[in-house]
Amino acid sequence: MKVLKNFMIKSCCYCLGDLKKTPQGFICLSCKKKYRTEKGILIMKSFEGNKKDSLLQKDLQFSQKYVFFVKNLKFNKRIRNEFYKQEEEFCDREAGLSLAGRLVDKKALETFVKLSKLDFSGLNILNIGCGGGKEALWLFKKGAGQIVCLDVSLSFLKLAKTRLKGKKASFVQARAERLPFKDNSFDLVFYMGTLHHLKDIALGLKEAVRVGRKVAILSEPTSKKPVAKILSSLHWNTEYDGLTTKRIDQQEVGKIFQDLGLKVKTKTNFIWFPFPMVSKLSFLNLKNNKLFLSLYFKFLALLDMLFPFLGHNLTVYAYKDKDFNSD
Ligand SMILES: [Zn+2]
Repeated sequence: MKVLKNFMIKSCCYCLGDLKKTPQGFICLSCKKKYRTEKGILIMKSFEGNKKDSLLQKDLQFSQKYVFFVKNLKFNKRIRNEFYKQEEEFCDREAGLSLAGRLVDKKALETFVKLSKLDFSGLNILNIGCGGGKEALWLFKKGAGQIVCLDVSLSFLKLAKTRLKGKKASFVQARAERLPFKDNSFDLVFYMGTLHHLKDIALGLKEAVRVGRKVAILSEPTSKKPVAKILSSLHWNTEYDGLTTKRIDQQEVGKIFQDLGLKVKTKTNFIWFPFPMVSKLSFLNLKNNKLFLSLYFKFLALLDMLFPFLGHNLTVYAYKDKDFNSD
């Protein structure tokens, strides 16, 4: 596997020109656009304070709250509890606070490995929507060579940078729909739970295919009608902060990749855990009960077997043909 020596170097996100380092940050050698860095994070575009995009602002505000929550995890009980009560599901999953949350992530990652049969050893990866960096940590554990972490949230990028200290990782604030990298810069573009946050999903996928040889999409909510209805009746329909979940159509995503000339494998299965329901029975501590969870995940596996086409969680692996751009 070819490893790009200059993986840390990004390109201008407007013209894809080469960047040159300056005392303040970087300058594009083609269009002369200047970029600054903050704490080692390259700011291609700053989104904080962009009032025009209210959805993006909600995402950014939430990520700020979440990072604050993680930072106060150890020493500020009051702040921690307040935020935790409103966003138990997200906190559990993101901060690894419950066994259920960890098992949900584990199942999503294992589903992808099984579908793709991909060996991550030495891969040069772009992690889009890296969040606080927990997926990148998993990728390094699986042998990833180097990772560029990209997110719209500067707060998340700062947290990811702290968590990935000492790893071969670099960090950039930019949009998935306008990636600051030259064609085929990466072995793998890795999305987990991010695609449904994009403003323009088709454009995001097109960009992923442009910069990467392979694309991984994990943990996306599918748009299956009956299941989506059941899920919303169980309050599984909302993102944090009352946002409605944008659901992804399996066929549509497959077609986008095929039209771009890639081969594609997709799978739907059952991965979620009913945090809102279980929290009403919090005295039972079911989300940390090994016996209950082993039965619950066996039940999900049974659903996977019986109704694979109804699965509410989408996994996608798309790849360019071997002879196309071979190493
Ligand atoms: Zn430029």
